[in-house]
Amino acid sequence: MKIARKPGTLYCVARTAALSSHANRIRTPSRTETQEERNYMSEPHVVIITGGGQGIGFGIAEVFADHAATIVIADLDQTRADEAAHKLKQQGATDAIGLTCDVANRASVDAMVAVVVERFARVDVLINNAGICPFEHIMEMSAETFQRTIDVNLTGGFHCTQAVAKHMIERGQGGTVVFITSLADHRTGPSQVDYCASKAGAFGCMTGFAVALGPHNINCVGVAPGHVNTPMTEHWWGSDAGKAKIPEIIPMNRLAQPRDIGEACYFAASTGRYCNGITIRVDGGNAAQA
Ligand code: NAP
Repeated sequence: MKIARKPGTLYCVARTAALSSHANRIRTPSRTETQEERNYMSEPHVVIITGGGQGIGFGIAEVFADHAATIVIADLDQTRADEAAHKLKQQGATDAIGLTCDVANRASVDAMVAVVVERFARVDVLINNAGICPFEHIMEMSAETFQRTIDVNLTGGFHCTQAVAKHMIERGQGGTVVFITSLADHRTGPSQVDYCASKAGAFGCMTGFAVALGPHNINCVGVAPGHVNTPMTEHWWGSDAGKAKIPEIIPMNRLAQPRDIGEACYFAASTGRYCNGITIRVDGGNAAQA
């Protein structure tokens, strides 16, 4: 088990037997590997997950907790963020805190990142997960609703990535940024036009940041979930009509679990750090089906 490189006197040395056994599976660097290459194989330490209080974001946090990361849940609701952080500490996170943050608001994002940097002195991974989907028909949608979807799903990722990347560049140790996009980054329906536009934009934002930040050893990746039953979508997947659709549209015949999305994020932030500017689809084969 590696020592968590936290500031001051805080060290994480001994963890549970399960975590030790995980650490034993991590490849030991050979003598020919450079420090930079070794960094690619190191465990992510401090991870910010926006919208991590529930749903997919919390599932992502659980996977990082399995790997003893320190987790920051940045969500709109402080109570929900605190409760999530409390659960994550019980599940193996080295540390976890909840912070209120509206990703659509730059001042709110800057304040959140400043607290994280002051407390932990590092950010290794940012997961741009916070998102909304109003599910309104485009011909009835107000301009304000359209704009809010763009502000949260697209501009939110821009705010958080720019704020965190400035710190990562200054620290000089690289990092990973994941954009939780969607299969809707390239296909849609009449009640998800705002959502599709925001996710297509997030794809473009991710590729642009990948090019800009690659020279700083920061990889940027899209993770596109297929269908996941979360508070955002439970009105459909909890219904009989929704359940009946699953075998028809998902070759693997089940919805994704939030943790499935977390595993892809963890890969991008650990052994998969050479992946940069690409999207990993986690959809059970949904998008591949004609
Ligand atoms: P969810 O259950 O609604 O969770 C989203 C979380 O983000 C909530 O805690 C929400 O808080 C928070 N949030 C919303 N606006 C925010 C803001 N401005 N700043 C900070 N936090 C904010 O949704 P989910 O299904 O887990 O979705 C997570 C991500 O996956 C989204 O980006 C979504 O587009 C994407 N995704 C989901 C699916 C799916 O099938 N569920 C599929 C593809 C992609 P409130 O509840 O208070 O609004």
